[in-house]
Amino acid sequence: QTEIHLANRPSGMPSDNDFDFVKRAIPTPNDKEVLVRTLYLSVDPYMRGRMQDAKSYIAPFKLHEAIVGGTIAQVVQSNSSQFKKGDIVIGNLKWAEYSVASEKEIRVIDPSAAPITTHLGILGLTGLTAYFGLLDIGKPQKGEVVVVSGAAGAVGSAVGQIAKIKGAYVVGIAGSDEKIRYLKEELGFDEAVNYKSAHLQEELAKACPNGVDVYFDNVGGEVTDAVFTLLNRNARIPLCGAISSYNAEGKDLGPRLQSAMIKTSSLMKGFTLGDYSSQFKEGSAQLIQWFQEGKLKYEETIVEGFEKTPEAFLGLFKGNNLGKQLVKVADP
Ligand code: NDP
Repeated sequence: QTEIHLANRPSGMPSDNDFDFVKRAIPTPNDKEVLVRTLYLSVDPYMRGRMQDAKSYIAPFKLHEAIVGGTIAQVVQSNSSQFKKGDIVIGNLKWAEYSVASEKEIRVIDPSAAPITTHLGILGLTGLTAYFGLLDIGKPQKGEVVVVSGAAGAVGSAVGQIAKIKGAYVVGIAGSDEKIRYLKEELGFDEAVNYKSAHLQEELAKACPNGVDVYFDNVGGEVTDAVFTLLNRNARIPLCGAISSYNAEGKDLGPRLQSAMIKTSSLMKGFTLGDYSSQFKEGSAQLIQWFQEGKLKYEETIVEGFEKTPEAFLGLFKGNNLGKQLVKVADP
């Protein structure tokens, strides 16, 4: 079997050379452990931060060891009374075709309740990030204007839909005309703006004639600068991500328009999903309910083949994905 290891700590945009494909024997589970076969891997922007040796809310990946991330897998051998052969499980496991997992590292998911991949996206950590960041920090009220950047990605597309459920006027910012069409026509966003347009500022102002009450920021940089010029009094800014700077080699000094926040008495608050771990049950129950009522749609971009995992990961920084980016490794 093959594992993917971190070969180097990249500077700037990572490349194929930063990943090593390493052949290993299929591991043997000990007592209270299971052997699982990987079905789907989640690739996520935050993993870029773990490739650096820097202090953060989560430890860096170790050099020359397997990269670890959200995984859906199937139990092939169980030495645990809690899991049986054939169970579909989710956990934070190695980028590997087979892994050994302890009882604490995985939990069973029910394949009959929703497609299994939704647990890595809209019904998983992605959906919860959108839910808590938007509702706890953004607190959108009926009729308010909510702008979300990275809008056609996994978190962003959930944010916009939840804001619509709460009765907001929703404006998405994304990087292609196809994504803009998707946001307006499929997800029911009120407006959407392509940030690669030469007239971002003007188009955004036109899309938000009543200013911006909530700005859910996934990207930072110039997109955020453009939104800041439109903030209304007492605006709220959940700071979720800053993907535009994840590969920056120098220091990115954004946000550069803090004075806009002073003038409008706006509140910006960073968060990580872990802040809300005690409320996951409540958040999940609400997401599942909206999902079953057809109020939450989702899209996935699935790259097939374990060997394409680095390519799928790097594609996040090029905007190759619509919705959640996944890698399909094997069929159940
Ligand atoms: P996405 O599905 O949104 O994928 C990343 C998207 O970012 C791409 O599709 C691309 O879309 C956009 N993008 C890439 N480079 C740039 C750039 N330079 N400027 C603007 N947009 C860019 O990923 P996720 O939904 O998983 O994550 C979205 C954000 O949320 C990330 O910043 C991530 O780090 C953060 N996050 C934070 C969490 C937390 O707990 N705080 C938890 C999960 C995610 P486009 O075509 O529009 O450019």
